[in-house]
Amino acid sequence: MSSPQLPGAPFLARRGDDLWLDGVRLSEVAAEFGTPLYVYSRSAMRAAAGAYLQALAGRPHLLCYAMKANASLTVIRTFAELGLGFDIVSGGELARVIAAGADPAKVVFSGVGKTRAEMRAALLAGVRCFNVESEAELLALSGVASGLGRTAAISLRVNPDVDAKTHPYISTGLKGNKFGVAHEHARAVYRQAAALPGIRVTGIDCHIGSQITEIAPYLDALDRLLDLVEQVEADGGTIHHLDLGGGLGITYTDEQPPAADLLVGQLLARIDARGHGHREVLMEPGRSLVGNAGVLLTEVLVLKPGAEKNFCIVDAAMNDMARPAMYQAWMGIVPCHQRSDPALTWDVVGPVCESGDWLGRDRALAVQPGDLLAVLSAGAYGMTMASNYNTRPRAAEVMVDNGRATLIRRRETIDELLRGELLPD
Ligand SMILES: *Cc1c(COP(=O)(O)O)cnc(C)c1O
Repeated sequence: MSSPQLPGAPFLARRGDDLWLDGVRLSEVAAEFGTPLYVYSRSAMRAAAGAYLQALAGRPHLLCYAMKANASLTVIRTFAELGLGFDIVSGGELARVIAAGADPAKVVFSGVGKTRAEMRAALLAGVRCFNVESEAELLALSGVASGLGRTAAISLRVNPDVDAKTHPYISTGLKGNKFGVAHEHARAVYRQAAALPGIRVTGIDCHIGSQITEIAPYLDALDRLLDLVEQVEADGGTIHHLDLGGGLGITYTDEQPPAADLLVGQLLARIDARGHGHREVLMEPGRSLVGNAGVLLTEVLVLKPGAEKNFCIVDAAMNDMARPAMYQAWMGIVPCHQRSDPALTWDVVGPVCESGDWLGRDRALAVQPGDLLAVLSAGAYGMTMASNYNTRPRAAEVMVDNGRATLIRRRETIDELLRGELLPD
């Protein structure tokens, strides 16, 4: 019987009984660096970006990695080396771009609640574009930019009111959602922007959700965006670029999202068909560039078989990987070294004092204490969402490149956790 293909293949593969990522045996990486441990494949990240870049080649474009998916400096540098820009959502992420040696002139700044201090920092760093999400933000940005004697290039994030058909927590393009300017107001806000000091209109953008597995919602959103572009230009405005957002899904279990090049191909075809082929195209993928490039390695601490449930308690927890607790997300969990014993059904849970602290439920696994498990598809929204709940230091991270594993973030220490605290008399 052939085993089902692993998400992350061909970079993630089983050779004999052992799980390998990009030429390293994962049990050896865990032995060297300890657990819980995030391990990423640089080749997998490059390949994921390559699919977008190939499809965008031959026309003006900028692929902006949405770094909130995985913001480690080495990941940022990996994408910067491929010529990518970055979609950021905070001043902290801007600082990461700069610290990684990437170019702030390729940064688009998204987010519904930018502070004036963040606007100032971004203007001084020379970011390429602010993706403005409200009229109030536009006015604030105009004030900050004028005060600095600078001009902020802006794009309005339009809420196209299309259903991305994904989990409600990660759907962002419907009415009644906190993101973006409502489609029917956008034309007026563009008119207003044209008259504001310190503001230069340069583009239009949308981002309708995350873990999207169909092309149709993208095409619907694009059509609504192009309708607006035509209206804005009829009003005398100029829209230089179309930013089509991120949100492309990945395979965690049996999802079958379109390949990035197929999605991009269809979007470009629609843009051309409607006579907008001269515009620069931006995209902001996060999850699809890194999600299946990484795994989270964890050691089995204790087995607790029971009358109702069998619990497999591991050393990674919801503070390391929040997605299952936060979105009831299903993530693959497999042993790093396969045993031939019969499998039992386990709930794989962490040591945190919350019943919501689980990584996977009802999983068929042959496990013993001390075994290593790999939580799959953990490259996106894993480490960036990690917390210190239960005063647990955050995991270490390793990048694998052509068979070589390199530590890219040291395991946090308890001292580091306590450092900022004060004990007033
Ligand atoms: C999160 C986010 C993205 C990336 O979303 P993915 O689903 O990870 O591709 C892109 N643009 C904006 C504005 C975002 O907030």
